Amino acid sequence: MTRFIQAKTILSPLKKGSDPYFGIRYNMNLYRGCQHGCIYCDSRSKCYGIDNFTDIQVKENALELLEKELRSKREKDTIGFGSMNDPYMPIEKELLLSRKALEILARHKFPVHLITKSNLVCRDIELLLEISKVYAAVSVTITTANDVMSRQIEPGAPLSSVRFETIRTLSSAGIYCGVTLMPVLPYITDNPENIEQLIVKAKDAGAGYILGLMGMTLREGQREYYYEQLDQKFPGMKENYMVRYGHDYSCNVPDHDNLRRLFQETCRKVGLPYAMKFYTPKNPVQQSLF
Ligand code: SF4
Repeated sequence: MTRFIQAKTILSPLKKGSDPYFGIRYNMNLYRGCQHGCIYCDSRSKCYGIDNFTDIQVKENALELLEKELRSKREKDTIGFGSMNDPYMPIEKELLLSRKALEILARHKFPVHLITKSNLVCRDIELLLEISKVYAAVSVTITTANDVMSRQIEPGAPLSSVRFETIRTLSSAGIYCGVTLMPVLPYITDNPENIEQLIVKAKDAGAGYILGLMGMTLREGQREYYYEQLDQKFPGMKENYMVRYGHDYSCNVPDHDNLRRLFQETCRKVGLPYAMKFYTPKNPVQQSLF
């Protein structure tokens, strides 16, 4: 079910310099809820107060607010899409809200960092090229090199193989793009073969960087949903989590340090940076801290 709602504001500022990983200064969410149905999704956490997460709420006045809020900014800094939902989930195909927001950002010459799991982003390559004259980055989240696994853990999103092809299309068009390898699910996707294959495939597809976190976070609301899904898809797995993590927020994979080392060594071997370049108003291209 889709509902249209009125938002009060559209750009949420992050404290200056508080995001040394993705280089984002303002988060923008044009929708509430997400159709991709990833079993580990943090946006289901109770603290965000989104009931019926797969029923999408569309911020009907988002573009109007965006025009107004951009005009009031003294400094142009990076607008991030995709922190609470995927800006290219299926509904975007008909509503074109992300596309229209990009048109506005291109006109106002604001830098953009998009995070998505969908090949629908390729529809907007021309706009992204225009924004690239200032700065545009597209991070495609891929958590497994295996399509069968991606269907299990991200049932509503395009398969991993489609996402690697998305990187190929974007990078061939000249868009700065890479992979966000996060989360890495303890006992599920944390095997060395998965990490190595993912890095090799990302490099082969033309990724300019890969950002990896060897673990996941779990909070109230998100945890209950994730455990329900584990019971259905990976029987017996929930108990491993309960014993190891209890009610921890930060859940590093059991072999964290070795996997992190393997991640960095493999990146160095294939020549894929594990940090991205991002925009700052005074020094347009800087390296992130990953
Ligand atoms: S794409 Fe992102 S926001 Fe959407 S369900 Fe998956 S993790 Fe959540």
